[in-house]
Order: sequence, then C-alpha cells, then structure tokens
Amino acid sequence: MDISEIIIAGDTPGVEWRLPVFRFKGASAAAPRTYIQAALHANELPGTALLHFLLEKLCQADEDGAILGDIAIVPQANPIGAAQAHFGELQGRFDLGSRTNFNRDFPLISLGERDGLLDEPDRYSAIDRLKRHLLDMALGAELVLDLHCDDEGLQYAYIDEAFWPEAADLAAALDMEAVFLSDGQSSAFEEAVAHAWKHESEGERRTALPGRLSVTVELRGTRDVYPDIALKDAEGMFRFLAGRGVVASTGAGLPAFAGKTVPLDNIEMIRAPETGAILFHRNIGDNVEAGELLATILVRPGVPGGTVEVRAPQDGLIVTRVSTRLARRRSDLMKIACAEPSRAARKPGTLEA
Ligand SMILES: [Zn+2]
Repeated sequence: MDISEIIIAGDTPGVEWRLPVFRFKGASAAAPRTYIQAALHANELPGTALLHFLLEKLCQADEDGAILGDIAIVPQANPIGAAQAHFGELQGRFDLGSRTNFNRDFPLISLGERDGLLDEPDRYSAIDRLKRHLLDMALGAELVLDLHCDDEGLQYAYIDEAFWPEAADLAAALDMEAVFLSDGQSSAFEEAVAHAWKHESEGERRTALPGRLSVTVELRGTRDVYPDIALKDAEGMFRFLAGRGVVASTGAGLPAFAGKTVPLDNIEMIRAPETGAILFHRNIGDNVEAGELLATILVRPGVPGGTVEVRAPQDGLIVTRVSTRLARRRSDLMKIACAEPSRAARKPGTLEA
C-alpha cells in the first residue's frame, strides 16, 4: 500500500490543502480498477468511517497477496469543505466562497479528454482544482463509488440506468433497502464519471456500460456514524469487491438484492405546505398507504385550526426524512419510494445528493 498526498494551493496566501490517497497495486491486469471516495460533502462521514475499516481489510488482503485490481481510496475527499464551519456548525454541502454544491459543477468531458484535466491549474480556483483531481482519479478506474449520506435515511443509492441491473451486487452487498434509478442528467461527481464513459470518444453516446460502475451511495443519515455499522458496511464493500474480482476472497457469495428498485420519477418528494414546527407521525423505513398522515405542521401553534396535515400522495416506502423540525414553506420533508410516477414535476438529474 502506498500513501501519497495531492497538494492543492489555496486561493489565499499561506493556505494549501492536502488530500491523502491510499493506493493498492493489483496483481492482475485483467481485474477492474477501483476508486472509492467519501465525504465530498464534508459533513457526511459514514463513508469515511466505512473506508477506515475497509482500509484495514485491504491492508490485510495486501499482506496476503489477495489484491487483484488496482484500488485507490480517498477517505476525506474535501478538505476545503471540512474547514468551512459557520457560527460553530460544519457546513460541508455548499462551498461558502462560491455558494456551489460541492457535488455539482464537475467538468462534463469525454474519457478522451481526461489527459487535459490537470493542465493549466492556474485557470482554476482551489475547489475546481480539487474537483478535477477527483475526477481524474475516478476516470483511471472502472468501478467508482462516491460515498454520501442523507439527513435521516435508509441505506440506498442513486444508480444510473446504464449500470442496472449489473449493480444489484453492490446493493445486495451493502444491504440497501432501495435503489433510485437515475437518468445521469446533472453535473454531480458520479454523473460526470458516467458522462465521460458514455462519451468515450467524440460523437459517441453509449447507453450501457457493462463491467463499469459509477454510483452515489447514501449510507443512511449524517448521524449514523458508529463502529458497528461502519464495520458491517466495510465488510459488505469488501464482498462487493471480491464479487467483482478486485480482491480474492474465499468468503460466501452475495445474496440477491431484496430492496426496492425505483425510477426517480417514482420518488415522491414530500414538501411542507406552510412554515412551522414539524410533528412527524411516520419514520424512515415505514411503508405508508395513500392518504396516511405523515406529519402535522404547527403553523399557528395554540390557535384552533392552526395546524396543517401532510398526507402520503400514494403508497410507498419512506426512504428519507429531514432532521430539522422547523419546516419552511416548500422545504423538503421526506422522500417516499413509490410504485407509480409522482404527479409533481421533477427537474432532471439526481434529486439532491
Ligand atoms: Zn452528499
């Protein structure tokens, strides 16, 4: 195992950012190459914990001569975001300088343009340099996993239809309860990677990418950072890597994926109709029926008729819930995975990873 650091000059004098990268050399040129990063949204740490334990397992596999494909691991992909606390609270999702989501605005290039990603760094701010380094590492692999988490959430993932159903092995390995099939229509990291593969060369447009995977994994909620679940997730990730031939393992194979597979159009984004304190009646993991009471919003507390009820638009599984208990008008409350398309309009691209 080799540890190196990518050094990115800050945008102000006296500041530079260091990004540790852990690399394992594979014994087989035929095995897929793997890139895994966590905490691109710097406040989402379940993936960092997973990678801490996965690195231990990979170091052991390395000693045993069991690493078949090259592996690169970045446990904390966003040192810039990790430094941005505001009034005592780590932000991590949006760059305070540019107000840009750290998981948007990745360059949409073809794979053939990868060689130029790191050229002329002076043209780019520190955050854009960081994004170009991350994309460059990812495009050197066939299996790319970007580890995020939701606010309060089940284990789930956004997976581009181009990788489905082949990627059901990952969903099974990580015990996911749902997979959201996405359409690859944003500039999120995983979609920039898939974009480069789909447009491998000029004018090309591939719709299926066998043997490859670029995915946003949502490892439950931001507070779900515990040694037992991180270790379990690391063991699941190791089994996924074994199944894909990245590491040699004598362990048991993977079960079939038993969770829900839902196109993004079938996700009901439940929004608050008014502003007020939220009383949730249902939790993540609950199966609800159309018309069931999900939450009461205390719009005018203490006043008769001063509450608003929020009900399920159709049957489905509650996959995520916000952790704040103050709703603002039209703010998100829940994501519910349903059998039928939502009647609410949806913008193209990942819902909000
Ligand atoms: Zn995220």
